[in-house]
Amino acid sequence: MFIRMRQHTLTFFDTTDQALQQPEFWNSLRDEVILIKGARVFHFEKIVNQLQRKVHGTRMEIDLSRLVHNLNFFKSKLKPGVKVMAMVKAFAYGSGSEEVANLLQYHRVDYLGVAYADEGVELRKNQIAIPIMVMNATEEGFAALLANNLEPVLYSVTMLKTFAEWLQGRSCAVHLELETGMHRLGLEQSDYTQAIAILKANPNLTIASIFSHLAAADSAEQDDYTRQQVSIFETGYKVFTQELNITPIRHILNSSGIIRFKEYQMDMVRLGIGLYGINPTSELNQNLKPAATLKTIISQIKEIKPGGTVGYGRWGKAEGNKTIATIAIGYADGYSRAFSRGKGKVFVNGKTVPVIGNVCMDMTMIDITGVEAKEGDEVIIFGDVLPIQQVAESIGTIPYEILTNTSERVKRVFFAEGI
Ligand SMILES: *Cc1c(COP(=O)(O)O)cnc(C)c1O
Repeated sequence: MFIRMRQHTLTFFDTTDQALQQPEFWNSLRDEVILIKGARVFHFEKIVNQLQRKVHGTRMEIDLSRLVHNLNFFKSKLKPGVKVMAMVKAFAYGSGSEEVANLLQYHRVDYLGVAYADEGVELRKNQIAIPIMVMNATEEGFAALLANNLEPVLYSVTMLKTFAEWLQGRSCAVHLELETGMHRLGLEQSDYTQAIAILKANPNLTIASIFSHLAAADSAEQDDYTRQQVSIFETGYKVFTQELNITPIRHILNSSGIIRFKEYQMDMVRLGIGLYGINPTSELNQNLKPAATLKTIISQIKEIKPGGTVGYGRWGKAEGNKTIATIAIGYADGYSRAFSRGKGKVFVNGKTVPVIGNVCMDMTMIDITGVEAKEGDEVIIFGDVLPIQQVAESIGTIPYEILTNTSERVKRVFFAEGI
């Protein structure tokens, strides 16, 4: 019933209770990815509870069934035949690249997208065999790309030249990014002639796709700009494909784009934050389910008298009697120092309470006056009870940053129900 994925060994138990009565087995688990799967009657939640107790402390829980639900929701919006590239850059938006990529591969997404070659190499080490596009390849990473069958994005004439020369005739699938208005990466219209000449001279560069990125697909006020970007892209795509007599995959939509522009799905879409259950548009959408919950615990509880102060710089002040809880998360875990002095709110035993004083490196103090709580109790930083959008807004940022800030020091616990 247990699959220890890292070591690829299986341990079998006849019943759930028998499994629970094997302390040696449980104590032997270190840094494991554990898939627990089975019908309700087996009560595997008992095992999950036992495991959760073991990984006490700060953790990000990822509900893989919600990821699958979100993937299927987006798929249901696609016209037949439209491919999906799932973006798993930045540790799969903080959710754990290998585990998420494995799931996506199992659910047959067509492509994965990462930012750096290193991220792609990690996926290949973890049995990810589907095509992987690398958005920010550098010369130092070329060898790793080739050795791992990773497909770089070529976004400038210089890069096209350098990569073609470096290849010395070896073949490689590549992606062309066109600049259409984001002004980040991409070939300008004035680069097309030179780029085409290089590509004609180097037929070993196989163009797997041509794409561009929308700057404001989430915002209705910017729809004219979005349509203009699409039009520049369509023109560019035509130039390259006619000159080179090829028909590579054409794509431009990110999550917001998929939600808002059915007409621009083209051959593929690039699904990022939506997969993790965050709706990046202001349009109401009840279909997405946030997959990540960030939790920590109360390490200590203290009573403070009027006039007492809390934390560094004495910024937290008790006007009356206060109950303060120290929780096991700080800015080194990705809980931004910007949450200091009441900006941040957390959820404890049914109540939303504020941060008091400054967030420390590994700890934060919260004001739990009037809340029934004891040391060891769970504290939710974000999750269903405290939406990540709200948490992001409280410090003037976006859910993308909150998710990806969560440091790798925070344990990821994966679970799934009903997949
Ligand atoms: C990150 C990224 C995406 C995904 O964007 P979301 O807003 O998370 O859906 C798509 N395309 C490119 C080029 C990206 O960098």
